[in-house]
Amino acid sequence: MTVPAATPSCWRCGYDLTGMRVEEVCPECGTPVWSRPVLDADQMRRDAGRAQTWGIVAAASFLVIGPLAGLIAIPAITGAARLKRRCEGVWPPEYKGARTAWWLGWITAALSIAVVVPSAVIYVIGLF
Ligand SMILES: [Zn+2]
Repeated sequence: MTVPAATPSCWRCGYDLTGMRVEEVCPECGTPVWSRPVLDADQMRRDAGRAQTWGIVAAASFLVIGPLAGLIAIPAITGAARLKRRCEGVWPPEYKGARTAWWLGWITAALSIAVVVPSAVIYVIGLF
């Protein structure tokens, strides 16, 4: 779901389309008012692949560097989330790499938190 902008503007050039009808075109660049950006399938597939790589690297590195892997999980989660947003909140089957990235990212993040929080508590309690 996207929140409608307060001012209607051309998605291509940003021209203010206030007062224009949906069947008209942008006076600045000729883009139809009632249109939206074409999603670049190749770009999205690359983004999904990249997010998946981050997810796998994060999950694998948890075994080596422990909770620091949570930092590596961030680009996996954010990359996958961005992709999902661009697909209107559903995982398209052709970008399942993004879904993998999302799960691996969150699992890694959860494991990191599960390690860091008790350690921090023990550390704080140990001070008193
Ligand atoms: Zn325009």
